[in-house]
Amino acid sequence: MNIILMGPPGAGKGTQAAKLVEKYNLKQISTGDLFRKAIKEETKYGVIAKYFISFGYLVPDDFTIQMVEEYLHENIHTEEFKNGFILDGFPRTIVQAKKLQDICDMFDFKIDAVINLDIPEDVLIKRLSGRRTCEDCGKSYHIVYNPPKVEGVCDVCGGQLLQRADESEEAVQVRIDTYNKQTKPLIDYYQMKGELINVNGDQTMDQVTQDIYDILDKI
Ligand code: ADP
Ligand code: ADP
Ligand code: ZN
Repeated sequence: MNIILMGPPGAGKGTQAAKLVEKYNLKQISTGDLFRKAIKEETKYGVIAKYFISFGYLVPDDFTIQMVEEYLHENIHTEEFKNGFILDGFPRTIVQAKKLQDICDMFDFKIDAVINLDIPEDVLIKRLSGRRTCEDCGKSYHIVYNPPKVEGVCDVCGGQLLQRADESEEAVQVRIDTYNKQTKPLIDYYQMKGELINVNGDQTMDQVTQDIYDILDKI
């Protein structure tokens, strides 16, 4: 089973993807995580992505697509992918979505569901301002809604929890505007293809997870 998880920044894509990984043993592909790893390791992708990400802009399509293609090429045939994958944060533009279709044909797989986490903008700001991310494993927490057992420390790996560089008030607003301009049109795109499934993202984490399980269990 291969799934796309869509939604604005802070909608809960990463949080829900982790739940789906647990239940269905899927591989999570987060382009945001891939970029952050590339930045840390100072690879060619990292050097360019750093600039765009820090301001809240999307990384240019050519570059993002190339990274995803390369990643799939190297990993798709590994054991971790045998039950399928969850795309978290890709595609984010129509160009990327069209290219994903080509990639599907090239690697001979199909997308089984496009899940869109639907959520009002004021909730996003509260979520993003309280988000803390593990610098080692990338797991995300929230200081109020999902605090770690020990303040500032990752429950899973003991890493330090930090606010991301693109989580300043200005960058958050740019990211939401970027979403509205460039990513929101994908909702119509997938709706027209008959693949879109909306889930109310403005519920407790467990309720959202349950709604997604109910959908995927029927696939
Ligand atoms: P969030 O889940 O909060 O939206 P991500 O971790 O998915 O954030 O992404 C962080 C940043 O990485 C984005 O703001 C963007 O700059 C860049 N990025 C991630 N995925 C893509 C993509 N598919 N296309 C272009 N840029 C991307
Ligand atoms: P995304 O990957 O879509 O940007 P995250 O999964 O990182 O979103 O969630 C953003 C923030 O909101 C995190 O701090 C997370 O702990 C918190 N969060 C996620 N889902 C919920 C929810 N249903 N209710 C309250 N807080 C949530
Ligand atoms: Zn961690």
